[in-house]
Amino acid sequence: ERRVVIVGAGMAGVQTAVALREHGWVGTVTVLGAEPHPPYDRPPLSKAVLLGKAEGSAFEVDFASLGIDLQLGREATGLRPAEHLLETAAGPVPYDVLVIATGAEPVRLPGSEGLPGVHLLRTLDDAVGLRPVLAAQHDVVAVGAGWIGAEVATAAREAGCEVTVVEAADRVLAGAMPAEVAARMAPWYAESGARLMLGARVSTVEPGAVVLDDGTRLPAGAVVVGIGARPATGWLEGSGIELGEDRAVVADERLRTSLPDVYAVGDCASFPSARYGERLLVHHWDNAMQGPRTVAANIVLGPAEGPVYDPVPYFWSEQFGRFVQYAGHHAAADELLWRGDPSTAAWSVCWLRAGVLVALLAVGRPRDLAQGRKLIEKGASLDRTKAADASVPLKAA
Ligand code: FAD
Repeated sequence: ERRVVIVGAGMAGVQTAVALREHGWVGTVTVLGAEPHPPYDRPPLSKAVLLGKAEGSAFEVDFASLGIDLQLGREATGLRPAEHLLETAAGPVPYDVLVIATGAEPVRLPGSEGLPGVHLLRTLDDAVGLRPVLAAQHDVVAVGAGWIGAEVATAAREAGCEVTVVEAADRVLAGAMPAEVAARMAPWYAESGARLMLGARVSTVEPGAVVLDDGTRLPAGAVVVGIGARPATGWLEGSGIELGEDRAVVADERLRTSLPDVYAVGDCASFPSARYGERLLVHHWDNAMQGPRTVAANIVLGPAEGPVYDPVPYFWSEQFGRFVQYAGHHAAADELLWRGDPSTAAWSVCWLRAGVLVALLAVGRPRDLAQGRKLIEKGASLDRTKAADASVPLKAA
């Protein structure tokens, strides 16, 4: 029997296992997960789980009935590709095909490691550790005004905490949005009662306080660090697998890695996008949902027969009472087109490349997102005047 071994029991790993069975894989499927918990979904961790509105977010997958051998609390520590062996503390695991789905790990704030009251938010344990802090209405300092920082601020305000968000860049979502769009999202912080400090750097974290570079002391019952995540690929060091400068496993258009019989998918892997003409490293849920189907189909059909992965990336965020969605991928040179009035509750932004829609941000306009996503998939051109009119549906020129 041929053996597929999947490393990582998050969304991408679990979906790969499920998709293998859906595609009729008859060999064995083993999933190794470093965490002790039954596999769970991460988006609720900064939302319902953090606020105690949901206990957990375990996937509803019946592993036993699918014939999936799930081994929790078992971490891969190395890879010996020539022998087709995975290393773990409990002994080696042989594979015929290996899928790397180890996700990402949060970037730590230098000097804050191990300090009491300093939290990250990546795992169920992190969320469970942070929940009583919010419930006790401590003063919260969130470091980083990215997606996680915004959602933490939202939840902490909802819980009744005083919230200060400290961001080193001159704007929110600096890695994701251009300045003119970020400028329309920044006021949401104050509107919710959170204080946003842009261009502010943390110097040191002390018991009960965060000290900034300029000497400002912010009282902090808890510090939540949300300054990004990096592919969890340290365990692959020395295996000979190609890793990028961003630490991602370098995968090809079928999500195959530089090693024979080894695939990579989800937050840990980058892939070439023919659609966007660049290599993408996507840290969003939908990529961990779609990528596994490509991997499974290629494993079942054979590595050159299966489909090519070239998605229109998609993600959402729930922040400050708003539903924010984004589809596609834009570059700095793309043309930005406003759709609707960004001072109102619902508006969108389109990005065009040579007149063709390549990306769309929708705030409280899910229909724009649905229509825009299809147009992006088709490579449709837009009529600028009509697209700017939020009262008419988005459609191809
Ligand atoms: P992960 O979910 O990171 O899973 C990887 C798993 O592999 C982990 O369980 C890890 O313990 C395990 N692992 C790591 N190393 C090893 C090893 N050596 N051996 C064995 N196991 C290992 N995306 C959105 O689109 N919208 C959202 O609203 C949203 N909200 C989010 C909120 C939070 C708090 C977080 C953390 C993420 C959020 N995301 C959101 C992103 C989304 O959850 C991720 O893109 C998705 O979880 C990626 O899945 P993955 O399986 O690739 O990686």
